[in-house]
Amino acid sequence: MDSISIVVLPGDGIGPEVTRGAVRVLEEVARQGGLSLEVEEYLVGGAAIDRYGEPLPQEVLQAALDAGVVLLGAVGDPRFDSEAPARRPEKALLTLRRELELFANLRPVKTYAELADASTLKREVIEGVDLLIVRELTGGIYFGEPRGLETRLQGRVGFNTEIYYDFEIERIARVAFDAARLRRRRVDSVDKSNVLESSQLWRAVVSQTSEDYPEVELRHILIDNCAMQLVARPRSFDVLLANNMFGDILSDEAAMLTGSIGMLPSASLGGMRNGGRVGMYEPVHGSAPDIAGQGKANPLATIASVAMLFRYSLDRDDLAERIEQAIVRVLRDGFRTADLAQPGTLTVGTDRMVEEVLKRL
Ligand code: NAD
Repeated sequence: MDSISIVVLPGDGIGPEVTRGAVRVLEEVARQGGLSLEVEEYLVGGAAIDRYGEPLPQEVLQAALDAGVVLLGAVGDPRFDSEAPARRPEKALLTLRRELELFANLRPVKTYAELADASTLKREVIEGVDLLIVRELTGGIYFGEPRGLETRLQGRVGFNTEIYYDFEIERIARVAFDAARLRRRRVDSVDKSNVLESSQLWRAVVSQTSEDYPEVELRHILIDNCAMQLVARPRSFDVLLANNMFGDILSDEAAMLTGSIGMLPSASLGGMRNGGRVGMYEPVHGSAPDIAGQGKANPLATIASVAMLFRYSLDRDDLAERIEQAIVRVLRDGFRTADLAQPGTLTVGTDRMVEEVLKRL
């Protein structure tokens, strides 16, 4: 059997601490599932600047392009805060997204009954929430031309262009419908078609694409209503499909449903290759310099990102579920890292949390 190459980029701060444990889970679950993996690790971000003078050396980018599957910890180091953007650790992320053509960002938001009190919202509203935000990542108003800041006769003006081609909408819609097939088979597509032409095209193309997925129910929802429903009735959503800007805002709003940033995984996906998707998998949180090196970071977001890697790049939903179930069991059995600690629970460090997950796989 050919082995599957996976590039691991631990990065900065707590990145290496949480990634170390996640790689152990990755290797153990692959072994259980009969997959042969070849894991190659490289420096990225501030760690790469220290060693090579740049956040993403060419050799690392090439390895990521060759493998097509990347697990990333986090990048970011306050020592570089005053540097020019090209010399900052975060530049590595943007370059990887662009070069791997990662056009789809997936953020699952799931509340665990055991952690319901960590959210600012009421338990009865958030209990049982299990939704997936599918955000377009490479188009729309963040990249559209023309854009600029100018001085005109009437005064200074700032302007941007919200623009989508039909093929960009169709490919992100397919990611959402494919994901919905593995879930509760519902897609809510977000737009502002009562005001914006780009949203009218969005709505038309999503509707047309949905004809290939008769088993998935499609609803269109206006962004303003969606923002409201997301906090009023979050359980009513399964897959939320949104353009770049609407998805950016909704995914942060939805993150608050779970209460802890240490629990949220993400995937950024590109095109298909060898039957799997090109993808970069990473926790939503950053490098947390305030707790780096103390052995107390929560590794569960990175471990849950490994589950997404099995689901979307290796087409092994069974192995993804095995990891997700292990996370549920660890929480049910009362283990918490410091960010989740509550009375009556057992506070453990990063490595012990990883051990407890491994035991439950
Ligand atoms: P952060 O997510 O690193 O930290 C925010 C707060 O959450 C901190 O108090 C931190 O201790 C806590 N936290 C985060 N992850 C945790 C975990 N796994 N377990 C326990 N507690 C956790 O955000 P920030 O402080 O705004 O940014 C720090 C650095 O990370 C910056 O340089 C920023 O640019 C970078 N960053 C990187 C990414 C990424 O790599 N994708 C994302 C966001 C921020």
